[in-house]
Amino acid sequence: MPLYEYQCAVCQQTFEVLRPFSQADEPIACPACGKTDSRRQLSLVNAFSSGKNLTSSSSSCASCHSGNCGSCGAA
Ligand SMILES: [Zn+2]
Repeated sequence: MPLYEYQCAVCQQTFEVLRPFSQADEPIACPACGKTDSRRQLSLVNAFSSGKNLTSSSSSCASCHSGNCGSCGAA
């Protein structure tokens, strides 16, 4: 279950809550003042780590440019 960080819009208290991803944007009560007017902070360590290297294309040689060299035999 991911850990989310929230900041209360009323008293500016920040707090962390373990909750399911599906409830990440649901209102949650501030532990300091009890209000549910909190904002989720984008402070997850892994929030932006995925997606790397997904755009690297498959290898192609200079002679065929086809994405794979099964046809030209250069690989
Ligand atoms: Zn508060």
